Amino acid sequence: MNTQKLPHIVIVGAGFGGLETAQKLAGAPVQITLIDRHNYHLFQPLLYQIAIAGLVPSQIAYPLRTIFRRQKNLTFQMGEVSAVDFESRYIKMNGSVMAYDYLVLAVGGETNFFGLSTVEENGFQLKSIESATSTRNHMLRMFEQASREVDPDKRKALLTFVVVGGGPTGVETAGALAELITHVMTKDYPEMDLGESRVLLLEATGNVMAAYPDELRQSTMELLESKGVEILLNARLTDYNGRTITAADGSQLEACTLIWTAGVRSAELTDRLGVEQAASRLVRV
Ligand SMILES: Cc1cc2nc3c(=O)[nH]c(=O)nc-3n(C[C@H](O)[C@H](O)[C@H](O)COP(=O)(O)OP(=O)(O)OC[C@H]3O[C@@H](n4cnc5c(N)ncnc54)[C@H](O)[C@@H]3O)c2cc1C
Repeated sequence: MNTQKLPHIVIVGAGFGGLETAQKLAGAPVQITLIDRHNYHLFQPLLYQIAIAGLVPSQIAYPLRTIFRRQKNLTFQMGEVSAVDFESRYIKMNGSVMAYDYLVLAVGGETNFFGLSTVEENGFQLKSIESATSTRNHMLRMFEQASREVDPDKRKALLTFVVVGGGPTGVETAGALAELITHVMTKDYPEMDLGESRVLLLEATGNVMAAYPDELRQSTMELLESKGVEILLNARLTDYNGRTITAADGSQLEACTLIWTAGVRSAELTDRLGVEQAASRLVRV
């Protein structure tokens, strides 16, 4: 195959979008370079299972070179794309440049903390293997510390887990956490009274699962409550110092764990493209 004459398609991002695009172009008369900062495809919907120690990372991360082993018109390169020159048609990556004929930007999103810097510093998020794994390690550490903590107030704070954001990810995470405590931790820590533990779901608006019909929202609330999750609606968080959560109405809650699932924005690269952006930094197309 003479690749010299074939159009060169560069796909940046090997998430759902980039992967699907690359696979659809298998067998097409093009030469594809697929680029991602990681050399694996991550199945993000199951990140919450990593956080609650239900799965291990290798179960949701698949090596890209293995996925594309048989696709002859594709090469993979691991790297961070830092800029795009749309006029001269090249991208910058790892200190070098790569020319393209067609460019597919499928860089996905990242967590949006809406400027709440103390939450970003002290809270946890579920957006990557690294962040989900550190959430898991932290939570397991909280149970260990609680098991030898004699001060009841400190113990309660160690066993209070707050999930912020009542969208699908927050609902899944809070429900799974409650199940982890009921089905696993009660058996692993027979010496502890896990009736002291709390899982709270904080939502800034008056509804969980805002985009869903009323009936589903209601049954989601009922199901979560039946698992022991406390749902706080109209609760807008303003500060978190790693121990105390402060809400907009001034109320406070002691919790050593806060998991932020309340917002996403487009990936940082989109800020450097010089293109028109909409809310959450989405690129207008
Ligand atoms: C915890 C969680 C649970 C979710 N649950 C669901 C669900 O149940 N159902 C559902 O439909 N959706 C769910 N989603 C959303 C879903 O995962 C996303 O909509 C989807 O991943 C978006 O696909 P994408 O290809 O646009 O971006 P992504 O999957 O985010 O992929 C983008 C890729 O681009 C790479 N990248 C970014 N910037 C650069 C750069 N500068 N250089 C090189 N590479 C770069 C990243 O490493 C990444 O691999 C969930 C998301 C999360 C975080």
